[in-house]
Amino acid sequence: MLDIREWKWEKVKPKDKAQHTLSCPYCNVKVRAISETRIFDADTGAIKYHIFKCPECFMPITIGIDGEIIPTSQLLPFEDIPYLPSSIEKMYCECRKCFSNACFYSVIMVARTLIMHISADLGATSNLRFVEYINYLEQEGYISRHNRTWVDKIRKLGNQYIHELDEATEDEAKLAITFIKHLLINVYELPQMAQGEGFREN
Ligand SMILES: [Zn+2]
Repeated sequence: MLDIREWKWEKVKPKDKAQHTLSCPYCNVKVRAISETRIFDADTGAIKYHIFKCPECFMPITIGIDGEIIPTSQLLPFEDIPYLPSSIEKMYCECRKCFSNACFYSVIMVARTLIMHISADLGATSNLRFVEYINYLEQEGYISRHNRTWVDKIRKLGNQYIHELDEATEDEAKLAITFIKHLLINVYELPQMAQGEGFREN
């Protein structure tokens, strides 16, 4: 049964203020944060959590007695990519969110779906098999023969997890997002950049 105990909050006296150097989960700046408030067990008086204020963004950061920082980083891993169609941007974000939550199987599955959506956005007809979407990307020159190895790896990983009960690893998920990131840059970002003001017409 859940043991419900009363925990109390108190403002920390200046002499008891704890200090902690950490990367803020909200603004990602490395800061020396000072505790403002602490939470303790009403029966034993044992301190459970310290609540710090980030001196950069002023958001509250909680640190447990085991050193765990709550929340985990609110910033998504892997870079933002400009000029993405909104549905593709949404799925790319979902892939990154899955990665930051250690849902590696989901990363690979979303990455596969994303490959199909990119291919369809570039003109592939719908209701193709996954391999046919990849073939389309290669035929139209969006992926090179060299990159084909990467996509085939994502395809095989996905198939493996559909047919066998196996866990996806962090490295495999990282590989899938890294490939997707490069594909999105090649297909959407670089062509737009070439049309920008950075290049002079001769
Ligand atoms: Zn901050």
